[in-house]
Amino acid sequence: MRAVRRRERGAGGGTKEDVDRLNSTYPPLYHKAEAADPKPETVRHEHGASPAGLYIHVPFCRSKCPYCNFFSITQPEYIPKYIDALIGELKLSRHVVGCADSIYFGGGTPSVLTPNQIESVIAGLSSCFSISADAEVTLEVNPGTVSQNRMADYRSIGINRISIGLQSCVDRTLVFLGRIHTARQGRDTYHMARKAGFDNVGLDLIYALPGQSPQRWQAEMAQAVHMAPEHLSCYTLTIEPGTPLAGRIAAGEVTPLDEKTAGVLFSLTIDYLNRHGYRQYEISNFARIGSDERVDRRSRHNRKYWNFAPYLGFGPAAHSFLDNKRWWNHPSVDDYLADIHAGRRPVVDEEVLTREQRIIEAVYLGLRQTDGIDLEGFRSTFNEDFGARFEPRLSRLIDGEMIEKAPQRIRLTRRGMLFLEKVVERLLG
Ligand code: SF4
Repeated sequence: MRAVRRRERGAGGGTKEDVDRLNSTYPPLYHKAEAADPKPETVRHEHGASPAGLYIHVPFCRSKCPYCNFFSITQPEYIPKYIDALIGELKLSRHVVGCADSIYFGGGTPSVLTPNQIESVIAGLSSCFSISADAEVTLEVNPGTVSQNRMADYRSIGINRISIGLQSCVDRTLVFLGRIHTARQGRDTYHMARKAGFDNVGLDLIYALPGQSPQRWQAEMAQAVHMAPEHLSCYTLTIEPGTPLAGRIAAGEVTPLDEKTAGVLFSLTIDYLNRHGYRQYEISNFARIGSDERVDRRSRHNRKYWNFAPYLGFGPAAHSFLDNKRWWNHPSVDDYLADIHAGRRPVVDEEVLTREQRIIEAVYLGLRQTDGIDLEGFRSTFNEDFGARFEPRLSRLIDGEMIEKAPQRIRLTRRGMLFLEKVVERLLG
């Protein structure tokens, strides 16, 4: 997890790493929804009344995937010391935020932790923070790391949302991605979650892979949709510098998918998932539209990153954001353990966002969401009219069909979604 702004591919999609970065700091698009949209949110920068999110970074993986530049290690012998330190870190931040209504165990691979270990962290969180009774408590689970019994135990200790790192439904693709699991294990993991009683399950998929055709991607989506998860995250494969995959590309062994086809796949994703009952609410995220419109299956926790809600991150490399200040922990388990052992908060650096930085983020993060930017919210937050601030560039982007106006809001068009970075650059001038 790093304090970096996510890099967009032309297709406008993100990667799992982008969302996980959002879990710690930054990040990591619009199509007219066919059903009524849930109530959109306004820009918020004052955190007093906004419940916080609590993020736990679990920096352990069974092995490293060749496309991943995330902070994680493959030494499980550190886990007991890490759990003790994590609980120590929670105590150092006791009651820093008023109320929290989401807990998110992200990684890395959080499902390498036993239910007992996770239960002790939840107990630590509960003793240090006021957590609402209806809190969303998410655990990322990777296929190949859980059994039916373990899944049932996760349910019994209070996890109420499972996010499965499926990534693909095709064995050959999973081998290319260096995943430790097969497609069969992915499906089994999903069914384990259902059997354990989870009624809020998300699947992560990666697309825009080398050589991937629209037909192949649609067939993968069909398999995921057939499982009927409540949530789908579809990320484009991002080539991160310094990864083994980037090395293979540099050596000419792998040819990345061209931008044009990636754009076609991005549009296909939105259309296909819309047709099958999933509403896009963020560039890469889709929630199932149920028969009961009051049930919101969007990720409460991840939406905090896009809506300027406060969040506290714990564990190596985790990021926090509160009262316009952002800070982040050592991206090293040893340094993290040493700091906690010495009674120090394991913070490596911090930044206080200026008004201009907050405006840039409000534009960037607002446009990532299909709700777009609430103009009245922008005015009340920054005491400045959005149009007055961004004209004539705003009108040019509207004329170019990159941005469209909705009542009291502006948002990206489908075309705008394909070029998010460029749209933001042009808008900001
Ligand atoms: S399991 Fe996830 S966090 Fe771990 S190496 Fe693979 S992509 Fe990265």
